[in-house]
Amino acid sequence: MKNTLNFLIPGIINQVFYLLLQIVLKLHEQIMIKITFPDKSVREFEKGITALEIAKSLSNSLAREVIAATVNGDIWDATRQIETDASLKLHKFDDSEGKHAFWHSSAHLMAQALQSLFPGIKFGIGPAIENGFYYDVDPGEGKQITEADLVKIEAKMKEFSVASEVYNRRLVTKDEAISFFSKKGDEYKVELISELEDGTISFYTQGDFTDLCRGPHLPDTSHIKAIKLLSIAGAYWRGDEKRRMLTRIYGITFPKQKMLDDYLVMLEQAKERDHRKVGKELELFTFSQKVGAGLPLWLPKGAQLRERLENFLKKIQRKYGYEPVITPHIGQKELYVTSGHYAKYGKDSFQPIRTPQEGEEFLLKPMNCPHHCEIYNSKQHSYRDLPIRYAEFGTVYRYEQSGELHGLTRVRGFTQDDAHIFCRPDQLKDEFTKVIDIVLYIFKALDFNDYTAQISLRDPNDKSKYIGSDENWEKAENAIIEASAEKGLKTVTVLGEAAFYGPKLDFMVRDAIGRKWQLGTIQVDYNLPERFELEYTGADNLKHRPVMIHRAPFGSMERFVAVLIEHTGGKFPLWLTPDQAVILPISEKYEEYAQKVSDFLNNSDIRTLIDLRNEKIGKKIRDNELKRIPYLLIVGEKEMESNTVSVRKQGDGDKGSMKLDEFAVFIQNEVNKLLEAIDSK
Ligand SMILES: [Zn+2]
Ligand SMILES: [Zn+2]
Repeated sequence: MKNTLNFLIPGIINQVFYLLLQIVLKLHEQIMIKITFPDKSVREFEKGITALEIAKSLSNSLAREVIAATVNGDIWDATRQIETDASLKLHKFDDSEGKHAFWHSSAHLMAQALQSLFPGIKFGIGPAIENGFYYDVDPGEGKQITEADLVKIEAKMKEFSVASEVYNRRLVTKDEAISFFSKKGDEYKVELISELEDGTISFYTQGDFTDLCRGPHLPDTSHIKAIKLLSIAGAYWRGDEKRRMLTRIYGITFPKQKMLDDYLVMLEQAKERDHRKVGKELELFTFSQKVGAGLPLWLPKGAQLRERLENFLKKIQRKYGYEPVITPHIGQKELYVTSGHYAKYGKDSFQPIRTPQEGEEFLLKPMNCPHHCEIYNSKQHSYRDLPIRYAEFGTVYRYEQSGELHGLTRVRGFTQDDAHIFCRPDQLKDEFTKVIDIVLYIFKALDFNDYTAQISLRDPNDKSKYIGSDENWEKAENAIIEASAEKGLKTVTVLGEAAFYGPKLDFMVRDAIGRKWQLGTIQVDYNLPERFELEYTGADNLKHRPVMIHRAPFGSMERFVAVLIEHTGGKFPLWLTPDQAVILPISEKYEEYAQKVSDFLNNSDIRTLIDLRNEKIGKKIRDNELKRIPYLLIVGEKEMESNTVSVRKQGDGDKGSMKLDEFAVFIQNEVNKLLEAIDSK
C-alpha cells in the first residue's frame, strides 16, 4: 500500500505540473504574439504592442526615426496596436513608404495651419506626391490665398510642429463622418465620404484639426523639422473643368534642415537645367501654337543632334541583327481594332480621319507594333528564321490633355526608337540578354552611371487576369530574371505589375542632380501574336505562335533628349554635341583667317561655328561658354602668323596654342577615345 502511494504521488504531481504548464502556455499564447522581421527572425512581444514600441525595444535611435510600419502587408501608423502574430517592416524617411507617410502627415499639418489662419476654409484632397505634398483648398467666396501668404503659413506649421501634436486615429461610421463635415461646412469632404463604404472610414486628428484619411501618419508633428511651401496653382475639383477651381498649395518637408537645404539647391539646379530653358538657349527645338500644342518642331541643331543619336543606335542595332523597316503614320481603323489599341486609345485620342470614300476611316498610329505584325505576316516563317528583329524610328500620336503637356517629356506626337523581336519561347532569354546589352551600352555612352531595373511579374494569386499559358509565363518571367541576374543588374521585383499580356523590365536612371527618370522598357507580349495570328512552322512541321518583345531603349527621341539635356545641363558629350568648337576672331581683321580655320576643321569632320559679332573678346568668350560649346578657339595676330589657334576648353581653361592639324587630331582623338571606351565594354 505504502509502495503504491509512493508510486502514485509523484504521478499526481506530474499531472498537476503538466496541467499548470498547459495553463501557463495557454495564457502565454493569449498575451504574446510572434513578430516576424524582414530578415525572417522571429521575436515574441506582448499583444497590443505598437511598431514604435518594438522599435524602442531594439534601439532608441531607431525609434526616433520610425515613421510608419508595414504590418502583414498593410501600411500602418507606427502607434497602432498589433493584436495578432504578424510580419513587420519598419519605415523610416529613407524609404518610399516612410516618405509618403511623412509628406501625407505634412499635408495635414499645412491644413491645420490653413484652418487656423483662414477660418471657414474648405478642404478638398491633400495627397503626398513624388516630392512633397499638396492640398487643394477653397478659401471661400471672394477670398484668396497668394504666394505672399506662404511664409505666414510655414510659420504657423512650425508652431504646430514644435507643439509635438499626436496624430490620433479613430474609426467612424459613415453617418458620423458625413455629419461631422456637414456641420463644418466642408462640402468637398462630404462628397468624398458619400462614395466610401461604411466601416472603412477613419479620421485623424492632430491638435484641433480633424481630417478624413486612410493614413498612415507620423506618430506626432515634431518629426517635421524643416518646412518649405513651394508654389500655388489652380486645380479643378476632381480634375473636372466644369467644377470649381480650387487653390492647390505645394510644399515639401524633411526631418532635418540640411535635407531641405540640399533639396532647395537641387531645385535651383533643376531650374537651370530645365530642358525647355536649355533647349531654347541652344536652339534645339521649339513649339508653335499655329502648328499645335504638344507637337515639337526640331530646329537644325536639335535635328542634327537627334540624327546623331539615331545613327548611334542604328549602328549598334545593326551589330545585333536588327533590320530596318518603315511604316506609314496612319493605318485603317480596323488595324487598331484588331490590335486592341482602338479600345485603349480610340475614345480619348485623336479621332478617325475620314476620306471621300463612304465609311472609310484611318487613325493616326498610336503604336508601331500593329504595322510590324503585318510585316511579319507578309511571308511564311520557319523556326530557323527566328528571331526576326524589325527596327523603326516610328512616329506615333497620342492625345494628351493640354494640362498634361510638358516640353518634350509630354507631347502629342513623338518618335519611338522602336523595335519588335519575334522569337521562339526558347530564345526569349537570349534575346532579353541582348536587349539589356544595348540598353547598358547606351547608358555608358551617355554617362548614365546610376541605374536600377524593375522586373514586373504577374500577381501569383490572381493568374486569371493574364493571357497566355502558365508555362509560357514561367518561361518569360524566368528569362527576364535570369538575364538580369547574369548582367549583374541591380533589380527590384514587383509582383502584379506586369501588363496583362506579358512581364517586363524597366530601367530607372538617376541623373546628375539625383532625380530619377524612367528610360528603356523591354516588354514581352503574348497578346499581339494571338490577335494577328502570327505563326511559324516548327521543327515538328506544325504551326506555332512566336513570342513578341517590344523594346525602346530611349523610349522616344523627344523624351530621351529632354532627359539628356537635364542630365548634362546641355553639356553634351563631344561626339554628340551640336557644335564642337567656336572660332572667336579678336577683331574684324582676323575674320578671313577665322574662315580659313573653320573650313579646315569642317573638312576634318569637326563641327565649328564662327562668332563674327562686333564684340569685345571677353564678352564673346562668356557668351559662347553659355552656349555650352566645348572648345573656344581664339584667333588674332599671333595665331594668324603661326597658323595656330589658342584653345580654351569649357570648364577647363586655357590649353595653349595648337597648329590647326594638331587641334583636329586632338579633337578626333578625344571623340575616338570616348567611343572606344564605350565599345570596349
Ligand atoms: Zn492623411
Ligand atoms: Zn510595340
